[in-house]
Amino acid sequence: ATPTSIMVGTGRAAELGVLFRKGEALQALHGVKVIAFDKTGTLTEGKPQLTDLHVNEGFDEDAVLAHIAAVERRSEHPIAEALVAAARERNLSLPEVSDFDTVTGMGVRAKVDGVRVDVGADRYLKSLNMDLSVFAGAAQRLASEGKTPLYAAIDGKPAAILAVADKVKQGTPAAIAALHDLGLKVAMITGDNQGTARAIADELGIDAVEAEVMPDGKVEALKHLRQQHGAVAFVGDGINDAPALAAADVGLAIGTGTDIAIEAAQVVLMRGDLRAVPQALAISRATLRNIR
Ligand code: ADP
Ligand code: MG
Repeated sequence: ATPTSIMVGTGRAAELGVLFRKGEALQALHGVKVIAFDKTGTLTEGKPQLTDLHVNEGFDEDAVLAHIAAVERRSEHPIAEALVAAARERNLSLPEVSDFDTVTGMGVRAKVDGVRVDVGADRYLKSLNMDLSVFAGAAQRLASEGKTPLYAAIDGKPAAILAVADKVKQGTPAAIAALHDLGLKVAMITGDNQGTARAIADELGIDAVEAEVMPDGKVEALKHLRQQHGAVAFVGDGINDAPALAAADVGLAIGTGTDIAIEAAQVVLMRGDLRAVPQALAISRATLRNIR
């Protein structure tokens, strides 16, 4: 590509809110076969809300939620915000906690009045040898609805299953349809559980799902997609996404996301609307077509 055509292409993209930090990215985008998206905050709004809460026999709903929220108040995960907000809506007063710890990609734990409380994904509580079979039916139903099931244990006993759900961004379905029209495969990479990820992917017509990916596993998931489909672009917003943004053939960060993600990416989407992704692709194709 000539420097002039690249300049024209990146200029047109900038008008649509797509900043190419280097001209090479416009060329690299042209060769991409698969576009992988982070789920939370990229395909979805990233503002989950509590949708369901079922307590186990012998537990009081408000008391359990107060314990959960007390622990989550110390976490910065979007799920934590949802749970704290839910407790606040019920006007619950939150007990003091000590010994708070985050188990990355899994959940959180702390002590409330000296009693241990664990909150997180099923794989977290299972790693603590907890038997969640009493919640199995509910978990399957919640996941099939595209909700994320979470569990709370109090003093080592399964106390509740809860679910959070996050709205798909308004432009996401149209963005995916346009990428398909351009002949690309669309993939999703998420730390969320298989069932939930599948349900959301099916609803959106996403071709490939890499779920239950640990924060340091996104680069590995990209490699897997590259082996199967060819050159891969990755779109993400979070701190967790930075290594994958750097490792992808083209990394695109959401401009409203974290600074660390933006710094790692070659392309920045100034607005959260994913329709900018197929638009950028179309511009890259037009640019390279003109100079051949
Ligand atoms: P994602 O960005 O997809 O949410 P994470 O690696 O941050 O991926 O989290 C993966 C999973 O770990 C979440 O879907 C949730 O089940 C669990 N988890 C992480 N942090 C928390 C938390 N603060 N409270 C409850 N569950 C959590
Ligand atoms: Mg995210």
